[in-house]
Amino acid sequence: MRLASPTDYRPPKPLGPVWCNSNQFMFGVQRLQQTFATFCKVLSVRVIKTSARTSGLVLSNNTHSVSCPVPSDSAPVFSGGTSNLAEHAAANTPTNPMSPREKADTPTSGSSNSHLTTTECASHNGSDPECDEERRIKEEDERGREEEEEYEEEKEEEEEKSCDEGFMGMTPLLQAHHAMERMEEFVHKVWEGRWRVIPHDVLPDWLKDNDYLLHGHRPPMPSFRACFKSIFRIHTETGNIWTHLLGCLFFLCLGLMYMFRPNMSFVAPVQEKVVIGMFFLGAILCLSFSWLFHTVYCHSEGVSKVFSKLDYSGIAFLIMGSFVPWLYYSFYCSPQPCFIYLIVVCILGLAAITVSQCDFFATPQYRGVRAGVFVGLGLSGVVPTLHFVISEGLIRATTIGQMGWLFLMATLYITGACLYAARIPERFFPGKCDIWFHSHQLFHILVVAGAFVHFHGVSNLQEFRYTAGGGCAEEGAL
Ligand SMILES: [Zn+2]
Repeated sequence: MRLASPTDYRPPKPLGPVWCNSNQFMFGVQRLQQTFATFCKVLSVRVIKTSARTSGLVLSNNTHSVSCPVPSDSAPVFSGGTSNLAEHAAANTPTNPMSPREKADTPTSGSSNSHLTTTECASHNGSDPECDEERRIKEEDERGREEEEEYEEEKEEEEEKSCDEGFMGMTPLLQAHHAMERMEEFVHKVWEGRWRVIPHDVLPDWLKDNDYLLHGHRPPMPSFRACFKSIFRIHTETGNIWTHLLGCLFFLCLGLMYMFRPNMSFVAPVQEKVVIGMFFLGAILCLSFSWLFHTVYCHSEGVSKVFSKLDYSGIAFLIMGSFVPWLYYSFYCSPQPCFIYLIVVCILGLAAITVSQCDFFATPQYRGVRAGVFVGLGLSGVVPTLHFVISEGLIRATTIGQMGWLFLMATLYITGACLYAARIPERFFPGKCDIWFHSHQLFHILVVAGAFVHFHGVSNLQEFRYTAGGGCAEEGAL
């Protein structure tokens, strides 16, 4: 059977439950069946022969219950274990010669005509013709038994030889080796890019996350190479991967640019770069873990669990990293509350990371809990915000304090989290948002947008601090 070449791939027309090329799949299955049948055959013949030898039995046609199937390419189904060796022998031997035993049992011996008993003949030392006849019959019987044993041995040898040779003149081990090679090749080809997207209902349980996305899912692909190559294919995760992959590259470039800004743009260059660097670190970690998780999500259950924990931890890192520069610049002249708020947000962030290490946290049933945990972590910023507004006044807070940007950032994050938890819009259009614009994708876009808005607000705060010359005003925290 010819394996399909790369050009043989056709986009799936009907999305059926079979996730790979059915010809390739059947090829692999048939090869495995052949190998297994060969092993069974050789093993069973050897076991019966060994047990017969150890128990002193002589095998005859009627005692065999094992088979020696001859695999054929035209019908390599696993059927060898059900046929009988006698049938096989009959099928493979054009003329079934009469065994020596049967020959010996033919009426030519005339043993049935004997009417003298053995004891009578034993006492008859003379040349009684009847006793001579009986001795002749006994000799013939013994000779026939010997011939029969030789015949059986020859037959066994032939049988074993034919089994050992297997089909195509190969030994079973060689056949197994070849079959495994073909199987590996088959698996490699399927997992290395010849897979098709599959519907939600045929996914394994660990890949079932959003049942409003009806089609376009990747099958399980236990190959990192195949997973990473799937970045360039269209499926339910394509948007999730690219939104955060591009976002990650964007923040990486932005962070590098910021870090290499001339020191004269800062009041305290090292301190400020470290503080803003914490935000960039959180953003890059969050987006990296996210696109990595969405890329290898279909690898296997274990890999998916590990990367989902990293993904959730990344969200906590982003939130914690976002707090650092904002608290630093907002409470520039009040280091004590700044320090306390930083400690509190770090403790809450670490608590969120700890919770997200539990297996149940990643399950679809806890979608709302997940959204709640991270929204709660973000909303812990309400306390320092109120503190800031009360101490600075609403006008100063919204102008100098960049509260407008902060509010927009919070709105983007919370909207994203709500869409994610409620699975909007695919809830209202099941099957219509499988590839583009489903809730997780929108959530990703809103996270990137929120992070950028936050960076913009923090940049304005930094700009103000630079223009203020770093001195603390006599009134207010700023
Ligand atoms: Zn995600």
